[in-house]
Amino acid sequence: MPTLAKRVAQLQPSVTIAFGNRAKAMKQAGIDVLSFSLGEPDFDTPDRIKESAITALRAGQTKYMPTLGDPLTRQTIADKLTNENRIQGLTGDHVAIAAGGKHVLYVACQCLLEPGDEVVFPVPAWVSYRPIAELAGASVVEIPTDAASDFKATPEQFDAAITPKTKMVILNTPSNPCGTMYSPDELRAVAAAIANAASDRAPGLTILTDEIYEKIIFGDHEHLSIGSLPEVAERTLTVNGLSKAFSMTGWRVGYAAMPGSEGAKLIKAMGTLQGQMTTNITSFVYPAIRTALTECAAEVETMRQAFAKRAVVITEELAKIPGLVCPKPTGAFYAFPDVSDYFGRATPDGKTIGSSLDLCNALLEQAHVAFVPGEDFGGCGEDCVRISFACSEDQIRQGMARFGEFLGSLK
Ligand code: PMP
Ligand code: GLU
Repeated sequence: MPTLAKRVAQLQPSVTIAFGNRAKAMKQAGIDVLSFSLGEPDFDTPDRIKESAITALRAGQTKYMPTLGDPLTRQTIADKLTNENRIQGLTGDHVAIAAGGKHVLYVACQCLLEPGDEVVFPVPAWVSYRPIAELAGASVVEIPTDAASDFKATPEQFDAAITPKTKMVILNTPSNPCGTMYSPDELRAVAAAIANAASDRAPGLTILTDEIYEKIIFGDHEHLSIGSLPEVAERTLTVNGLSKAFSMTGWRVGYAAMPGSEGAKLIKAMGTLQGQMTTNITSFVYPAIRTALTECAAEVETMRQAFAKRAVVITEELAKIPGLVCPKPTGAFYAFPDVSDYFGRATPDGKTIGSSLDLCNALLEQAHVAFVPGEDFGGCGEDCVRISFACSEDQIRQGMARFGEFLGSLK
């Protein structure tokens, strides 16, 4: 009989994917489920991106390619990060392309982390950071945040969390699941604190900044890439991907870049690991990446405007429900209300709601609305539910009405 290795036997399934799959299965069984579970834009991939892949496929670009991507596509990404994100000193050799942002994060953590190392990040945070860091043998140090501070950590908190064991700090702005983002000034202050702490006690520290939601912003601030700030530039690995901004979740494209000779060394190591793992991503996708990054600003902006309108609608709808605390979403496409006011109550058929998981289970089973429970996002996430509003305004109105009725029925 096969026995599973401990590393997977103990691994928690991704709760975002689990609830997404449950909602899909119920829909397939004919149930009218309104799903706000998966973080996946509802738009189709822009046509011109599809056409690039189709043309490459027809032209026979169907063979193995260089592991980290062909030189032209890597250079296109370096140019994008130089011109849009103001990250200096990048060439194609500083860029890795892998099968999604998640895969990039996994490969980077495998290349940088060892048992005994600590990885610091503010929580609530995306569910996959912890398992990916732990699979590399590291342990996680959480910085707690709360709804009152828009789920943002202070420079002092970063400073206090960094020890000689800290090997990595993960930042994610705009944030999944919080739906909030750091202002450029806040991020500058965080960068200064990390730079000081690193030179004081953690010289090998890497900042991994996950900027996959950089284009989906609708607050008062611009997005700033921390990798553009000179004091941390050479220790910052910028991670991004095409899934969200270009509505390309199924294509599986992610990338990472770090300048300088240390950056080139890390990227080369990521290529060595990837060469023993997945080799290159699907070869006829490379021209589509170039089209997305160089020709699709208008399509990205149209989708951003739709998300901005949805953010307004969900804020209005949630405000109608008593007892919720929810910062206004300013980036990504998530609302993350604190629902703990309802804990301890029971459904009409007698089920006690003791946690976010209980609430999401009962909401899905009884009201056919799928959210993601907040526990696995860490920290005060256990008091919250994640609502992905990457769906129509109509669905948002209907879903929040059902949610409000469900909460109103609790005794
Ligand atoms: N980072 C964050 C914060 C995410 O929310 C996601 C997925 N939604 C990813 C990375 C990875 O996305 P992908 O693997 O599709 O690029
Ligand atoms: N990241 C998206 C989410 O949070 C997609 C699922 C996943 O990869 O976690 O819903």
